[in-house]
Amino acid sequence: MIFKLVIGVIVIYLLFSFFRKGFPQMGGKAGPAEIRTAVAGEELVEDPFCHTYVPIGDACRTQIDGKTVYFCSPKCLEQYKSEKKR
Ligand SMILES: [Zn+2]
Repeated sequence: MIFKLVIGVIVIYLLFSFFRKGFPQMGGKAGPAEIRTAVAGEELVEDPFCHTYVPIGDACRTQIDGKTVYFCSPKCLEQYKSEKKR
């Protein structure tokens, strides 16, 4: 059956993409942030305070004026918030 072949290809593709994503992270820091990055993909968000791009899984997030804003570190978050108050 052709369907068995298609399912086999999909399974192999999923395993392959899993291992390709999994291996580079083994050398680096491992933790909940790494898992969140893998789940959310490699989407990058801009830190509005220092204008660096950070993976959405590693970003510090907060709600400002009803919008979710992402920062590279809690330090940038605090400084951005205190600048907004002025
Ligand atoms: Zn920053």
